[in-house]
Amino acid sequence: MRLVLLGPPGVGKGTQAVRLSKRFDVPHISTGDMFREALAKKTKIGLSAKEYIACGKLVPNEITIGLVRDRLQNPDCAKGFILDGFPRDVAQAEALDEILKTLGVPLDAAVYIDAGPDILVKRISGRRVCEGCGATYHISFSPPPEDGKCQRCGGRIYQRGDDREETVRERLKVYKASTEPVVDYYKGFGILKAVDGEKDANEVLEIIISMIQGRQ
Ligand code: ADP
Ligand code: ADP
Ligand code: ZN
Repeated sequence: MRLVLLGPPGVGKGTQAVRLSKRFDVPHISTGDMFREALAKKTKIGLSAKEYIACGKLVPNEITIGLVRDRLQNPDCAKGFILDGFPRDVAQAEALDEILKTLGVPLDAAVYIDAGPDILVKRISGRRVCEGCGATYHISFSPPPEDGKCQRCGGRIYQRGDDREETVRERLKVYKASTEPVVDYYKGFGILKAVDGEKDANEVLEIIISMIQGRQ
């Protein structure tokens, strides 16, 4: 199964990607997580991405596309992958087509998850993530354990710096301007599947699975 998950910040791409990755036994590839890990390790890529992430802008394509190209060549992607947060503009979508053409494999679907602005703001402002494994929690919808430690790995749970209000506004602007056109890009290829991301996370998962298996 080769899927791309598209949608605004906070809509639930990561949440669904984790579940889809388990369900189809393929890796979850999140460019946001890769950048945050690189930053924690202070690698060259992490340090070059730092300022862009901090102000909510896209990391330049010459960094991001190379990162994804390398990742997709890893043997664990032979069975497929769930791409979360990439492509984020039309140039990245075109680059992904090239990469997959070289690998000789097509995308099965681009899943577009959407929700209204009030819901996005509520989800982003309540989001908490684990420093150790990247697991996502929400202060109201999936509260972290009371001791503040991740239930998967015992890591520290924190609020992402870019989940604060000012940066969120910029990220939503960048989404509208750069990422929304990617929805039409995949619509044009006839592989777009749209799902209402305002529903409960389990329901969203089942709808996605039905859609990609052609039952809806
Ligand atoms: P994205 O990867 O699209 O930015 P996340 O998967 O990190 O979004 O979700 C953002 C926040 O919303 C997280 O705190 C997550 O726990 C919560 N969340 C995700 N999907 C749902 C849902 N369907 N209903 C309620 N909360 C959700
Ligand atoms: P969200 O889950 O809220 O949509 P991500 O974790 O995917 O956020 O991304 C966080 C930040 O990492 C982005 O605001 C951007 O700076 C950077 N980033 C992630 N993926 C990409 C990408 N494909 N292209 C450019 N920048 C990216
Ligand atoms: Zn953890």
